[in-house]
Amino acid sequence: MFKYSNTNKRYYTLDYYYKTKFNSKVAKINLDGNFTCPNIDGKVGFGGCIYCLNGSSDSNKKKTLLEQFEEKKQIMLHKWPNSKLIGYFQANTNTYDKVEVLKEKYELILKQKDVIGLSIATRADAIDDDVLNYLEELNKKTYLTIELGLQTIHEKTSILINRCHTIQKLRKRNIDVVVHIINGLPYETKEMMIDTIRYLNKLDIQGIKIHMLSIVKGTKLESMYKTKPFKILSNEEYIDIVCDQLEYLNENIVIHRLTGDPLKEQLIAPKWILNKIDILNGIDKELKIRNTYQGIKKIENEQR
Ligand code: SF4
Repeated sequence: MFKYSNTNKRYYTLDYYYKTKFNSKVAKINLDGNFTCPNIDGKVGFGGCIYCLNGSSDSNKKKTLLEQFEEKKQIMLHKWPNSKLIGYFQANTNTYDKVEVLKEKYELILKQKDVIGLSIATRADAIDDDVLNYLEELNKKTYLTIELGLQTIHEKTSILINRCHTIQKLRKRNIDVVVHIINGLPYETKEMMIDTIRYLNKLDIQGIKIHMLSIVKGTKLESMYKTKPFKILSNEEYIDIVCDQLEYLNENIVIHRLTGDPLKEQLIAPKWILNKIDILNGIDKELKIRNTYQGIKKIENEQR
């Protein structure tokens, strides 16, 4: 058994992390705070990232924050009675507004019963100094995590430097950072995806979400794929790559996700991504066959 797991997992699970930190099951309530994104509204770009459906895939859109919260809380508490709750601002760029607006939305959720913290998904270029100061203040009052999309290290250097710089600024203020990466981006090789993990080991991050690239209806990626199809990873290739990435990943980084959750009706490819349980079981099985676990290759490399 891996030291950061109380199940058969060979990696540092989020469930284990929460249970040891809060002495309780913790459920995340995903919320749409009705924010936009600098890559959608024209500040940085229009139309969003190639794989983005502009955060509109969620049924949350027409509900108030509290309605969303109550509805999802009931579902979570039915599954896991007595859980503690984390408000997860997920859709679009959740720091992209005036501090007063952020304050109003975040603190409304923090006031709700059993809420022990917030998780806020955003972009590195949407955290200015005013927001940073406010996040620092918030972090002193509650359990706060900032989620940043890094996607890959094989990007223009300036973009990468900016993202890493934001991570450093958050860490200087003692704020936990979770980074998202995507496997299977067009023309990336397995070695490049493993390099992304090696690079992340050098940054001071506390968690990671690993996603498989999914082609969703209505995105730029859909048109790219239809015009000039590129290779999409198979289920087996994805499992193999994730296991390699886990082996290289620092053992203290918490695994928040090992696959994505696209909606069936919006998904064009790959269809295997809908079988989330199969993917997770496949990863467990492969690590068991290899008799390896998170961080084993990083440890071996350091010992050389
Ligand atoms: S940063 Fe996020 S919300 Fe904005 S365009 Fe990219 S994927 Fe969409």
